[in-house]
Amino acid sequence: MKVVLQNLTKIYPSQDKGPDVTAVNNFNFEIPDGKLIGLLGPSGCGKSTTLNLISGLETPTSGKIFFGDDDVTDLPPEHRGVGLVFQSYALYPHMTVLQNILFPLENRKGKERLSKEEMNAKALEAAHLVQIEQYLKRKPAQLSGGQQQRVAIARALVKRPRVLLLDEPLSNLDARLRLQTREEIRRIQRETGITTVFVTHDQEEAMSISDQIVVMKDGIIQQIDAPQTVYDHPVNLFVAKFLGTPPINVFSGEVKDHMLYIGEDAVLKTDLEDRKVIVGIRPEGFILDENGPLKCAKIGVQVMGRDTSVVSSHPASLNDTVVSIISAENRVEGETVRFALKPFKTVLFADDTEEALDCWLSD
Ligand code: ADP
Ligand code: MG
Repeated sequence: MKVVLQNLTKIYPSQDKGPDVTAVNNFNFEIPDGKLIGLLGPSGCGKSTTLNLISGLETPTSGKIFFGDDDVTDLPPEHRGVGLVFQSYALYPHMTVLQNILFPLENRKGKERLSKEEMNAKALEAAHLVQIEQYLKRKPAQLSGGQQQRVAIARALVKRPRVLLLDEPLSNLDARLRLQTREEIRRIQRETGITTVFVTHDQEEAMSISDQIVVMKDGIIQQIDAPQTVYDHPVNLFVAKFLGTPPINVFSGEVKDHMLYIGEDAVLKTDLEDRKVIVGIRPEGFILDENGPLKCAKIGVQVMGRDTSVVSSHPASLNDTVVSIISAENRVEGETVRFALKPFKTVLFADDTEEALDCWLSD
């Protein structure tokens, strides 16, 4: 089921004489049928509001929402056919796992009502999909956090929703379970082919699970692209900084006679005319090279298995330190480390608007 957001806006009126909050500002995008979209942005940027507009829990101030060709803007949540999963599992503590999963089916009325056998078959199918069949008789308190979240997902899936909406579903899980459960969600989404919106503030989570990422800031969409495209070709400095660990290194730079300078160092050729720029370099964009143009003062070296992380400083760096990741086979000697730069790991931004500049770079 394709989902279309058209000029969608949600303004919360001011409280305590503060200003109105535009939580969702004129969203226009289409979620293709059967895809998993990651809604990514810092806390308070409007992710949950967007999800709640799609589910019908919130009413838009203006704009429309379509599921396929159906305009669902005025449809109450229970008639939209959405499955919802939240950060808190919100299971009924006094019911067994099976009863929790059955609950949405038992609530159906009239023509939609299924026989006991049909309901049981559907509940077992959902339990099988999330691999919790062996716990059907337990109460939620007798399950781990990861298992409880699977039950919540099964409960969301049992009605075969047209759209599955997940709001930070992994945030309450510890690091290992988070990894495992996100793989599970990916598998379940692929198996069912249900169009899914996955909300997270964790860029790595969004990168690993999504077909497409929607990056948001202050209620405004910054970029919609495949994860690797967002990482390699961020549209602005905010997006560049929000994706990647360790984060992108940022320098003030200048173009003179088609040469890009970082401080005194002439690092790459470019087709840009003379101007001031902001230079973003991914940690993996540095090549250790004794004749390399970028001269940094070494602060420390950390070997982390396969890779070595070199921490250094540079007078034109806009961060406290420059963090580069190089292969662990390299030895980093001396006080000064010199780097050549990979042009495709370097992005230039306008010094005033911080928008990415369309240009080529080469060494
Ligand atoms: P996120 O999920 O990205 O953390 P939210 O969608 O929850 O962000 O919130 C977006 C903005 O809208 C925030 O500034 C938040 O304070 C505000 N907001 C959310 N819900 C309400 C509400 N019911 N009333 C007033 N303001 C709200
Ligand atoms: Mg939220």
